[in-house]
Order: sequence, then structure tokens, then C-alpha cells
Amino acid sequence: TPLTSISGYAELIEHHMASPEDVPRFAGEIHRNATRLLNMINDIIKLSELDATTQDVVLETVDLYQAAENCMDTLEMSAKKHDVTLKLEGESCKIRTEKGMADEVIYNLCDNAIKYNKDGGAVTVRVTEEEDQVVVSVEDTGIGISEGQQDRVFERFYRVDKSHSRRVGGTGLGLSIVKHGAQYHNAQLSLDSEPGAGTTITLRFPKQSAA
Ligand code: ADP
Repeated sequence: TPLTSISGYAELIEHHMASPEDVPRFAGEIHRNATRLLNMINDIIKLSELDATTQDVVLETVDLYQAAENCMDTLEMSAKKHDVTLKLEGESCKIRTEKGMADEVIYNLCDNAIKYNKDGGAVTVRVTEEEDQVVVSVEDTGIGISEGQQDRVFERFYRVDKSHSRRVGGTGLGLSIVKHGAQYHNAQLSLDSEPGAGTTITLRFPKQSAA
């Protein structure tokens, strides 16, 4: 779909079928759809990497609190755009893992918590340590997910509201990446949501997480 739009708008401009005042709008559509396509390709590449049996996994000691802090810095502009406040609670908690994977999982959860929030809403990320687990939860005050959809959102390409997802630039792959990432870490993944009130997604990593 993004490529069809890109090609269509470019063709109109090429054949002088766009008035000068239409050109910025058409260029905007080309830009927006190109960004969507780029996001989709990046997500598909990440999923293919997760599917592939990687032999050269590099395990490091990763501080998940630090990872969440970095992720919030990256998403600061997006949160401002959506009028959403970001909050980080907890303490430094370290596990042995592949750094890129941990970053990816936390990023996707925070990105969704912002995208599917309401104006003036909030996202709270908590990183805490329990006996033999490190718990990362991402809570939002957004639109929520109905009970019937709660399992389905982890399926590849599944989106609850296709028009909303298209508007916010979704591909339907973010939570599949989270699910794969959780399996990869032997982490438990749980979702708690109430439509209209918000969603909390929690990951429980074993302290000695190994790929
Ligand atoms: P997308 O790229 O569409 O965001 P995801 O796989 O990340 O894809 O999520 C699948 C669908 O689950 C989304 O399209 C959205 O409908 C729903 N969803 C995900 N996270 C949230 C959330 N925090 N609050 C409400 N709905 C959500």
C-alpha cells in the first residue's frame, strides 16, 4: 500500500497533473508513505533476524534501567508530539543478554504506549528487581485493548484498528518483535488492559538470562 501511494503521487507530479499548490501536499504523502515503508522493512528485517538461528550472539551485562532511560530519550520528541508525559521509576537492574534485543523490546513497548495513548496521557516505565527476576513494565493511560483482542495483538501484522494504526504509522509487527524478544530471553510476557483506561505490558526476565 505505501508503494502504491508513492508511485501514484509521483506519477501525477511527473505528468503535470498536480497544480503547484497540490505539490507540497503530494510530496508530504510521498514522504509519509516512504517513512511507513521504511518502518515496515526495518521491522521485517528484525523479525527475520530473530527467526534465523544466530550463531554469533554476543551476551553482555545490560542494565535494563539504563536501556529504558535511553529509550525514553529517543522517544522524547514523539511523546511531546502526542502530548504524553514519560516517567521512569525503579532502579538499576542488570541481566546477561544481547543488548540490541533488550533495547528493541523496551523501545517497541514504549513506542506503542505513546502512539496508542490519549492527549495529556502518561507512560510509566518501571524497572525493579525481585528475588530471581528483573521486572520491566510499561504502563499507559491510553485507549486500551479489548479482552478478545489481547492475545491477537502479538500476531504478526495484526492491528486492532487498521485506520488508527495507519495514521500513527504502525506495521502490526512491533508486538511480534516483543514476543520473540521475550522468548529469546526466556522472559514471561503478560498484558493487562482495560479499554478506555489503559494498558500495562510486563516482562519478567530471569536474572541469569541467556540466549
Ligand atoms: P503496530 O505497528 O500497529 O503498532 P504492534 O504489533 O506493535 O503493531 O501492535 C499491534 C496492535 O496492538 C496495534 O495496531 C494496536 O492496535 C494494538 N496496541 C499495541 N500496543 C497498544 C497499547 N499500548 N495500547 C492500545 N493498543 C495497543
